[in-house]
Amino acid sequence: MSEETAVVRRTKSANCAFCGKLVRRIKMYYRNGKYYCSKRCFKKMQEKIAKEQAETEAGT
Ligand SMILES: [Zn+2]
Repeated sequence: MSEETAVVRRTKSANCAFCGKLVRRIKMYYRNGKYYCSKRCFKKMQEKIAKEQAETEAGT
């Protein structure tokens, strides 16, 4: 089960999963089921998720 499939949907726009900015389809990054306005936001989100996961694992 892979969530990394880069599916391009016929959506006009979406909000960046990290900064919430409206993303136009032409410069949209779709990764792991979420949209990002830029590669930078994608990287930031990955860092955030990694950090949260590390904290969750540490807490158990
Ligand atoms: Zn963004």
